[in-house]
Amino acid sequence: MSVRVVARIRPLLKAEAEKDQILSIHEANNGKPQIVKIPNPKSQHEEYSFNFAAAYDATCTQQELFDTEVAPTIKHLFQGFDVTLFAYGVTGSGKTHTMRGGKSLADRGMIPRLLSNIYRKSKALEKASNGETSINVSMSYYEIYTDKVFDLFEPPEKRTPTGLPIREAEGGKTVVAGLSEVPCSSLKEFEILYDKANANRSVGSTKLNAESSRSHAILCVKVTISTATETRASTICAIDLAGSEDNRRTGNVKERMVESASINKSLFVLAQCVEAISKKQSRIPYRESKMTRILSLGQNNGLTVMILNLPPTKAFHLDTLSSLNFANRTKKV
Ligand code: ADP
Ligand code: MG
Repeated sequence: MSVRVVARIRPLLKAEAEKDQILSIHEANNGKPQIVKIPNPKSQHEEYSFNFAAAYDATCTQQELFDTEVAPTIKHLFQGFDVTLFAYGVTGSGKTHTMRGGKSLADRGMIPRLLSNIYRKSKALEKASNGETSINVSMSYYEIYTDKVFDLFEPPEKRTPTGLPIREAEGGKTVVAGLSEVPCSSLKEFEILYDKANANRSVGSTKLNAESSRSHAILCVKVTISTATETRASTICAIDLAGSEDNRRTGNVKERMVESASINKSLFVLAQCVEAISKKQSRIPYRESKMTRILSLGQNNGLTVMILNLPPTKAFHLDTLSSLNFANRTKKV
């Protein structure tokens, strides 16, 4: 099990000013951009430095991020290992842009590129095997909202208030009972399914961003490779995490506070799990939140890539500093 944490600073938005930028990227001793620097919010003369496996600036395209960070994991997936891909960051930092992306071909995020790549690779492998290998792709997609699990392939009317139960299955795996697993055999089919499912997220139509930023969206794509002698399945989960913003500063009240508390708890447990995995500790506290239980982090010998999304300006100073601290805890090897 290994964890790779990389930083991605998003471009300035129209409403943001160049002079308000607080982040800079620097090369490590190996000459590669791996260091993110941010001023101490309390003292302009002091700077903090954070070291990552890689750091991408605002010029980084979706294609570049995919080629360097995601495409290599697909090789592991086809070798039978599980992969987990996270986008972490404050609301407005670019998580959804990174994972789902925009409508244009160039803007497509990691998820559609991932699927496109999986289908292409599957077809090539099937063809090369002269019909001896067949590859099936199926997927589940759910959100975790206030520590409850909801199937995004089901319409919201079919939800029960308590969400789907989590059970221990054979082999010590944790599964969501009653979660649909939908076969999906082409990128076209995927796009229709995925768009429809995204419309089922916990959102009020007028508060789309505010609400969707409060749930974790987890897409798990299972690739099953069958030959004459064996059948092997592995899964890649791509996760658009809830916003990591701090309650105490966003002025959340009542329900918002309940939501934030459970969001922060699962993000906190996630950080502890990733840290424990990075340090190769034997005890990984994945049982302490639903998200980490379901993902079974540390139970498999898979690969985890965490993309830390960072907004460039000082309006996000404190949250960005705490995101960097979070990531820093998770990547100490
Ligand atoms: P989050 O999901 O973390 O709340 P979003 O993905 O919604 O953040 O991004 C916030 C805004 O920034 C959106 O308008 C999005 O289109 C824009 N954005 C984020 N990352 C990029 C990027 N790499 N290039 C261009 N625009 C981006
Ligand atoms: Mg988002």
